[in-house]
Amino acid sequence: MADKIRPVRGMNDVPPEETPAWQHLEAEARRVLEGYGYAEIRFPHVERLELFARSIGEDTDIVAKEMYTFADTGGDTLALRPEGTAGCVRAGITGGLFRGQTHRLYYIGPMFRHERPQKGRYRQFHQVGVEAFGADTPDMDVEQILMARRLLQDLGVGGLTLHLNSLGKPEDRKAYRGVLIDFLEARRDQLCETCQERIQRSPMRVLDCKVASCQEAVTDAPVIADHLGETSQAHFDRVRALLEASGVPYEHNPRLVRGLDYYTDTVFEWTSDQLGAQATVVAGGRYDRLVEEIGGPATPAVGWALGIERLLALMDAARVPAKAPDAFLAPLDESVEQSAMALAEHLRDRGLAVWYHCGGGSLKSQLKKADRSGAPLALVIGEQEAADGTVLVRDLTAGEQRSVARDEVAELVGGRAG
Ligand code: ATP
Ligand code: MG
Repeated sequence: MADKIRPVRGMNDVPPEETPAWQHLEAEARRVLEGYGYAEIRFPHVERLELFARSIGEDTDIVAKEMYTFADTGGDTLALRPEGTAGCVRAGITGGLFRGQTHRLYYIGPMFRHERPQKGRYRQFHQVGVEAFGADTPDMDVEQILMARRLLQDLGVGGLTLHLNSLGKPEDRKAYRGVLIDFLEARRDQLCETCQERIQRSPMRVLDCKVASCQEAVTDAPVIADHLGETSQAHFDRVRALLEASGVPYEHNPRLVRGLDYYTDTVFEWTSDQLGAQATVVAGGRYDRLVEEIGGPATPAVGWALGIERLLALMDAARVPAKAPDAFLAPLDESVEQSAMALAEHLRDRGLAVWYHCGGGSLKSQLKKADRSGAPLALVIGEQEAADGTVLVRDLTAGEQRSVARDEVAELVGGRAG
């Protein structure tokens, strides 16, 4: 036998017994998001590297360390998308979407980051993402939070905590930055090596470090909340009031920052205590400057992304069964294959789902397969049935069987399929 070719580390297959749970999650996402007026947008998995460098930020872990970057044969430098917002905004600009109207968009698909693979962290992972453009008011932030909550609820996932913060405007962050740098410099030797480098370059990212000693060192760090400008404070107050009025519990976490540079004002995350270190299931926030920064007209926006693998780990995936057919057709002899296959096609013409047994075998072995298919009925055709123009219809739940005229079978199967 030839050598096996290994899969790429951190990139997983989804075996057929797991796809029903994926399909269920995706179908529920489409139903809930479209119910809020969101339309699906699709854009390439590959973009120019420059797009991600400019939008996510050169200094972020994603751009500095985690991107799959390559030169194509034409000499362009391209990258696999590490997240969806940048490509979505680029597609909106390319398509001339941002002309003052509101657009609510969603996408579902793979993202790529060269991180250290572990539970809940992969190199190809999948997101459901939403972005709303054209509204700078807090109602849009809260609508998106409610929408995420509804999706999580409808998928039967509970026990999540909503963390909320405001990062203010870039102007607010300038004043805060100085205060934070002073605080961090005084504790330089308590921080990990990476964070020591971050102090001057991007001090807020130290707050997001997952190393325990760093987290400890920043417990009393000054918070952005004390540096919000008037507009940002008013925006945040309205978000909180609207969440409270909507009955959504949340924790104001003044140290919540995000690993991407483009956020302004509201940021939020849903975490679970069931996921270990990779606790965040949904993360997002407002990014009012991004569209303009990558060459579009000034357009306020807010969005979130949900990690599908992490959400599936919280769902009882076994509760999502594979779809069973309406009938299982068992041809007992090669001599009946023409009439049996014709019957299967006739039933499919009526919109019925029919699994036809290929490969021969005894009645007993074929009925075992029929049982495993989950079909309510097995349709058995042997030499006798083919000669009589009948079908032996076996009710797989009741275990009873009877002979039925061939031209009555469609109605019978259709009735059971209801
Ligand atoms: P984390 O802090 O866990 O690294 P992040 O802040 O990098 O997450 P975002 O870029 O905001 O994550 O992506 C949104 C969501 O996508 C995350 O909350 C998570 O559920 C999921 N996600 C991000 N990176 C990965 C990954 N490498 N593998 C699996 N899921 C991921
Ligand atoms: Mg990350």
